[in-house]
Amino acid sequence: MQKNEIIANEKIDEKKVAVAEKIISQLQKELPNYITKGSGPFLAAIYDEKGNLIAKEANSVIDETCSHNHAEMNAIKAAEKALNTYDLSAHNLSLYVTSEPCMMCLGGIMWSGIKAVYYGVPSKRVEQITGFDEGFKPNWFAEFSKRGIVAYGNIAVELGEKVLQDYVANGNTVYQPNRE
Ligand SMILES: [Zn+2]
Repeated sequence: MQKNEIIANEKIDEKKVAVAEKIISQLQKELPNYITKGSGPFLAAIYDEKGNLIAKEANSVIDETCSHNHAEMNAIKAAEKALNTYDLSAHNLSLYVTSEPCMMCLGGIMWSGIKAVYYGVPSKRVEQITGFDEGFKPNWFAEFSKRGIVAYGNIAVELGEKVLQDYVANGNTVYQPNRE
């Protein structure tokens, strides 16, 4: 198995992979600008099936002082506001995110009605590079599959790892609750 082989909970669709590579690479390129303005090192975007951007939000845990303001949660919140609904399922939306969703965001995605998730850097690598805690996770690819949510991972990983490495190297905050 290759180091950054793309994984999915369905038969890999090269067209979806190509779209996801384009979008996630772009998010990784934009992410440093958000970090400079005080955001955390994660960026998520939600698109409809026609390729229209519905929402794009970065992690704002520190700058908005809220522990659940992860990029995915912020993007879902913005999409629901934009479409004026708490159930996105009728809109057939896909969420693209620079790193694998944490345990909270997996729950948030499930309750939102998002139909597909594509992520960049896998959680294990995020934890190794940054020290962020991604939580304990079940086999979420299988769980999402049962709920009709498509999942693809390990997209544009090298680009994403570089952003995270720079985030740490530049002395940015790696926050987590005190567990002592
Ligand atoms: Zn999260």
